[in-house]
Amino acid sequence: MKKIRLSAQVFLTTLFISVMAIIATTWYASSLGRSFYIRQTTANLQQRAELIANILKPALVAADTTVLKEKWPLILTQDSTRVTVILPGGRVLADNFKNPAVMDNHISRPEIVNSLRNSPGTGIRFSHTVQRDMLYVAIPVRAGGELAGFVRVARDLSLIEKTISAMQWQIIRAGSLILILTIIAGFWVARRITNPLAMIIHGVEKFSSGIFSEKLPEPSTLEMARLTQTLNTMARQIDEKIAQIERQKYEQQSVLASMAEGVIAFDTEGHVLSINKAAARLFNVKRKQVDGWLLKQLVKNEELENLVVAVLETHRPQESEITIHVPTEQILNVRVSPLQDEQMRVIGALMVLNNITRLRNLERGRREFVANVSHELRTPLTSIKGFVEALHEGALDEPENARRFLEIIYRQTNRLISILEDLLTLSRLEREGGQDQVDFRMENLKGIMENAMQICEFSAEKKQIALHLECPDNLLVRVNGPLVEEALVNLVDNAIKYSPENSRVTIFAIKKNKKVLIGVQDQGQGIPEAHLNRIFERFYRVDKARSRKMGGTGLGLAIVKHIAQVHGGSVSVESQTGQGSLFKIYLPLNDHLTE
Ligand code: ADP
Repeated sequence: MKKIRLSAQVFLTTLFISVMAIIATTWYASSLGRSFYIRQTTANLQQRAELIANILKPALVAADTTVLKEKWPLILTQDSTRVTVILPGGRVLADNFKNPAVMDNHISRPEIVNSLRNSPGTGIRFSHTVQRDMLYVAIPVRAGGELAGFVRVARDLSLIEKTISAMQWQIIRAGSLILILTIIAGFWVARRITNPLAMIIHGVEKFSSGIFSEKLPEPSTLEMARLTQTLNTMARQIDEKIAQIERQKYEQQSVLASMAEGVIAFDTEGHVLSINKAAARLFNVKRKQVDGWLLKQLVKNEELENLVVAVLETHRPQESEITIHVPTEQILNVRVSPLQDEQMRVIGALMVLNNITRLRNLERGRREFVANVSHELRTPLTSIKGFVEALHEGALDEPENARRFLEIIYRQTNRLISILEDLLTLSRLEREGGQDQVDFRMENLKGIMENAMQICEFSAEKKQIALHLECPDNLLVRVNGPLVEEALVNLVDNAIKYSPENSRVTIFAIKKNKKVLIGVQDQGQGIPEAHLNRIFERFYRVDKARSRKMGGTGLGLAIVKHIAQVHGGSVSVESQTGQGSLFKIYLPLNDHLTE
């Protein structure tokens, strides 16, 4: 339906009511005026008729036209009143408008008939004699109880009509003035209603677009003022509610975002409702793009999918340890529980993912380490036990053998001590490094390197290996001197061990960007590529037998790596079989390590 403006509606209604009121007033006033005039005129005519009856009574009683003629001029007036004198039989005796001789018998005229019942008799009808609407008033004339005749007076009604129409025109003129005033008032009222309404609509439109800061101005009318007050209160409450919901949402999001566990909410169809940062990071996706995705679009893993399906079907929580390969192998502890609304209806599933890869790796590492240590300790212990038994069983009496066995026992005991010392060093490094208990001081790096070289000089000389040192004189670094020295001794010792006689080992240090690079380069056998990335693991050796023969524990490089790490640095190796090796230690050269 076509909508019409409220102002137009108010205005048109006012206009319609005004016009109808004017029409009704005009009609009512006219008919009231008409009947008033007729009553007045009737009374007037009755008086005239009675006056005339008195004058003409003797003539009527005598039915004498001569007497009538004498008196006739007395009763005629200048106005247009018609006077008719009628005998009891209905014959017209005299009339001032028409010759009585040609006039009909008037006994059946309504006013004459009426006058006999209730004097006077009145009637309004068209007169064929004068060809007009006339108001007739007739009275009977009696003498001594006998009817002597009738006097009838009549007046032309057009005079009354003229007066009434003049009055109607006056009413219409006044009505038009009222109408104009009503139109103006209508406009004014319409505007007074619609102006504040327009303001309210404008304000409410702002509310609906989410702007609650602007209050609606208060109009002067009571109802409108109450409406705006109510709307303003409503807007304030909505604003507060929205702020509260947003605050809660933000709190929820920040709780989810700060959680280390991955959290994903699914709807009953298995579509992602929300996902936190940790889960997105875990599956290597962007949080914003996965809304509405299915789990299989996030990660292809049947076990994970089955967990969600099981929860959605059984409404029971599920837990499992699952390995995914996105982007690398990751072990996850996954708990999926039903997501419920306030009425405890299941509306989806909530998945909580705990990345336990590190934990599992640590456990594995620890297991392997224990196995390795046991194995490493068992070999020398078995050997010692064997030779002690041999001595006990009689070898003591064979001085040659006894000396050889004791030497072996001595060597194996030393080996055990070396392994234990290295293990103790490692555990000390782990403990102190983990608790920031390592003591750092400003040291001249060259001094430390010279010390390490001195310690290795003896074994180098034995193989006629030349040791070279290249280091700026005043390279000051904040380090733990004994630890760096130990790392260098380990590297140089290895370089000597795994290099041929007459070769050369170079130890150098240079500043590189914000780091210090300490390198140990040899011309030895090198390390096959396949072993390079495991060489720094505990007990890892390229050639176990050879390492053992040389008194190696397989822990040297692991110690070097730990020493670099407690300094906030790292280690690496470049090597090729037969091409020598280059071991590098990077130490950060920042404010707390250098001056
Ligand atoms: P080890 O006590 O056996 O020397 P390390 O941890 O010091 O133990 O070294 C681990 C393994 O790395 C050694 O067994 C050896 O196979 C290899 N390696 C270390 N340094 C060198 C080097 N300079 N040249 C060749 N191989 C090396």
